[in-house]
Amino acid sequence: MSDVSGSELRALMARVPSVEKVMASAEFAALIVEYGRTQVLGAVREALDRWRAGAQSGDASLSALDVAQLKSSVEAALRMRNESRLRSVFNLTGTVLHTNLGRALLPDEAVQAVMKALTQPANLEFDLGTGKRGDRDDLIDDLICELTGAEAATVVNNNAAAVLLTLSALASKKEVIVSRGELVEIGGAFRIPDIMSRAGAKLREVGTTNRTHLKDYEEAIGPQTALLMKVHASNYAISGFTKEVALDEIAPLAHTRGLAVAVDLGSGTLVDLSQWGLPRETTVRETVEAGADIVTFSGDKLLGGPQAGLIVGRRDLIAKIKKHPLKRALRVGKLTLAALEPVLQLYRAPERLTQRLTTLRLLTRAAGDIRLAAERVQPALQHALGERYAVTAEPMFSQIGSGALPVDVLPSYGLVVKTVDGKRGGRQLLALEKRLREMARPVIGRIADDALRLDLRCLEAADEAELIEQLKGVRA
Ligand SMILES: *Cc1c(COP(=O)(O)O)cnc(C)c1O
Repeated sequence: MSDVSGSELRALMARVPSVEKVMASAEFAALIVEYGRTQVLGAVREALDRWRAGAQSGDASLSALDVAQLKSSVEAALRMRNESRLRSVFNLTGTVLHTNLGRALLPDEAVQAVMKALTQPANLEFDLGTGKRGDRDDLIDDLICELTGAEAATVVNNNAAAVLLTLSALASKKEVIVSRGELVEIGGAFRIPDIMSRAGAKLREVGTTNRTHLKDYEEAIGPQTALLMKVHASNYAISGFTKEVALDEIAPLAHTRGLAVAVDLGSGTLVDLSQWGLPRETTVRETVEAGADIVTFSGDKLLGGPQAGLIVGRRDLIAKIKKHPLKRALRVGKLTLAALEPVLQLYRAPERLTQRLTTLRLLTRAAGDIRLAAERVQPALQHALGERYAVTAEPMFSQIGSGALPVDVLPSYGLVVKTVDGKRGGRQLLALEKRLREMARPVIGRIADDALRLDLRCLEAADEAELIEQLKGVRA
């Protein structure tokens, strides 16, 4: 409702300082130094337009517009606009390789290498021996071969790209035989049948969802067959009356018929995780030894490196893959290569891996150690939330994440927050979960079984004090 008369409004408008005057004022000099003239000018115009519109609609609180007031509103707007949208969070979800939170965290060696690659020229595609043009794959393919036992290797943007490129280069206009039990959707719209058709290959499904036999593959082989393919089921498990054909049975069949076998391993670990009490996953080397001609896997899942898709296998097939035009479109940048090399080098000293490779350090962290952290953080949150909430340190289970063995869980510890009166607890917990997400460094937990659960597996010592300090400021 407007209770400002025409003449009052005109008087108000006349008191609005001009843009020129505002920009020339002492108050705005520092802002211009920090944000630059263009941005400040835009923000001042917006603020003045807002003020005029407010005054016209009768918002009396606007009557006392002055330069100092304008400065604080412009400064707040500029600060908000220039805040990074990609923000550090606390991953207390209990999922170590959380796709939505950026998957693997990189070790210091990788961080240093990326920093160098960012600020100094490097021999990305320059052969230092001959002084001629080089190939970016040459920088790390030997290392990948050493760690996997493969003849040749190449790297692309992610594993989805690795699969797309492999199928495009080796099976375009031909048939690829895949078991119906392995036609999976990985999430984020990666579906084997879709990738297959994008690559121009024809999917030849064999067997049934729960059971596929060697003779199913055998009978499907024909003049149009280019590849036999196996896909890691990653994020689901079938149990009961099931049968899948192992790679060491499929490979001899393919090879006697002059065909190749491609395996999409998904997570693709380079070491036997069971030596640290983790669930066993077939390694890339074992897959190569079992007869795979091509193996594709991610760089940022169990490998613990940057986002990348690694393709390893037979030299002639890798050469064909590298020659395909899509390779140029899917290739990795220097930052990826810079980060990947030191991560791979860590695997040369497997006995130190659980200390130095961040992903493995988090996955192998002992529940007792996490319990101590939970007991140190608990008082801060309990105190901040007051007596209407009960915050307890309790055992819980973390997940590996990123499609590595979805049914397996790691003994962990964390905080469990419940409302004391129980009633309307659901709404209160949802509100609390939202407040935690809105903190300066968002705290991401999860709600399950009528409680907010904060798994502390991924809270490393260096971040503990920051979390405690933040939690002290949570309002109930
Ligand atoms: C994760 C996964 C992919 C996709 O890998 P990205 O690196 O995320 O592109 C493909 N296939 C399998 C079996 C996977 O588990």
